[in-house]
Amino acid sequence: MIQKERIKFLNQKKEKNGDFILYWMQSSQRTEYNHALEYSIIKANSLNKPLIVFFGLEEKFPNANLRNFSFMLEGLYEVNKSLIGLGIKFVLWKKSPQIGATELSNDAIVVIVDKGYQRIERQWRNYVANNIECPLVEIETNTVVPIEEASKKEEYSAATIRPKINKILNSYLIPLELNRPIKKSLSFDIDSLDIEELDNLLKSIDVDKNVKVAPDLIGGTSEAKSHIDFFIKNKLDRYDDLRNNPNLDYLSNMSPYLHFGQISPLFLTMKILETESPGKESYLEELIVRRELSINYIYYNNAYDSFEGLPDWCKRTLEFHEKDPREYIYSIKEFENAKTHDPYWNAAQKEMVLKGKMHGYMRMYWGKKVIEWSNSPREAYKILIYLNDKYELDGRDANGYTGVAWCFGKHDRPWTERNIFGNIRYMNDKGLKRKFDPDAYAKKINEYTVSN
Ligand SMILES: Cc1cc2nc3c(=O)[nH]c(=O)nc-3n(C[C@H](O)[C@H](O)[C@H](O)COP(=O)(O)OP(=O)(O)OC[C@H]3O[C@@H](n4cnc5c(N)ncnc54)[C@H](O)[C@@H]3O)c2cc1C
Repeated sequence: MIQKERIKFLNQKKEKNGDFILYWMQSSQRTEYNHALEYSIIKANSLNKPLIVFFGLEEKFPNANLRNFSFMLEGLYEVNKSLIGLGIKFVLWKKSPQIGATELSNDAIVVIVDKGYQRIERQWRNYVANNIECPLVEIETNTVVPIEEASKKEEYSAATIRPKINKILNSYLIPLELNRPIKKSLSFDIDSLDIEELDNLLKSIDVDKNVKVAPDLIGGTSEAKSHIDFFIKNKLDRYDDLRNNPNLDYLSNMSPYLHFGQISPLFLTMKILETESPGKESYLEELIVRRELSINYIYYNNAYDSFEGLPDWCKRTLEFHEKDPREYIYSIKEFENAKTHDPYWNAAQKEMVLKGKMHGYMRMYWGKKVIEWSNSPREAYKILIYLNDKYELDGRDANGYTGVAWCFGKHDRPWTERNIFGNIRYMNDKGLKRKFDPDAYAKKINEYTVSN
């Protein structure tokens, strides 16, 4: 059974005659711990009808490039295999998802979709809800606690959302086992791209191919599961004290998998809770409270990816200091090409460009310095969103928009006033040196640059 708080009807249409139930997979690109897939199977079985799963590849998605498309397609390759095992047909089209879902709905009894929080994802769902002749049911499966249940408004900080989440968390910690569909749909005569020919498919995709495939991370649920198993076994115990050291790899690497919905945050939570590890509290704070605070921000604040979305006190203090002289000012190209005077910043930028994932601790320093070395806070904002969305495998995500906003004071408190930053928290290389050896970090990245 799927909890009712995870279910939302996006239109008032009635079920109609049709050949199948349609699950339009979009934000939850997995077959395990996927409440939307489970709801679809239960629905299909209750009507004794087959289920079709559809995914639309949008080549015009903002910042679509070889890096994020190959990671996504690796995940969908596994989705297809797993659906075949369940007797479910997977339909993959090179088409805008909302257009594809609307077209396929002509023969569907009902359409089910997973919940998405970003502007474009909500626009797609609105379009389909208004343009199909049957119900569109949205199922929330990419958060542990459904976002509107945790809070009905934009939260001020982790301190304000944490008690709200914790109060109801236990009622959502329910394992999810998939039912099997009664009726198979594999022989349905609907065209689909051949995802088994992954290399050919990738070659045919019309996206920016200058952003290369991330060398160390392969997409897909089974990859995500092997990373988390390794992390729990070898790193979770020391996560709390070592995660802020970019020279030691003590993070879980879950962010790209969470971004594409290739792994479920509920599944991760259940796995972590099974352990007796001293690191589990810190990890769940990041995975649940911080991550769901980020989603809360983009869900309730439509200007989440621009300076305008910031709290008034942040905008006011940064604007007051906008004309303060800057020791260094770099253009977007200089930042992009890692051509600043600062070897630590350049190393962080190179780590992101080359590996597709900058260490979490360096992301804070990286963001703060772009504020310090740009013409204005508005320009800095644009540069950070552009670089983060283009190069991070986990970019274009609630956490990225909120991470950038955090650099400008969002979810933080005012600090002592200073040049350029006003009351926004400042970071410098002395702070890095107190935590770890940034020269060793820069050396490691530069060696990586040379060998790749
Ligand atoms: C300027 C800036 C940009 C960022 N851009 C992104 C981004 O594009 N995508 C992204 O997923 N995260 C982003 N973050 C947040 C954080 O740095 C990453 O989530 C984390 O480094 C991902 O690596 P991991 O999964 O190995 O982390 P782990 O430490 O192993 O964390 C596990 C999970 O907890 C969550 N988490 C961890 N740290 C945070 C945090 N600070 N805020 C919210 N959730 C968190 C993530 O879902 C993460 O996958 C950004 C932070 C900053 C300051």
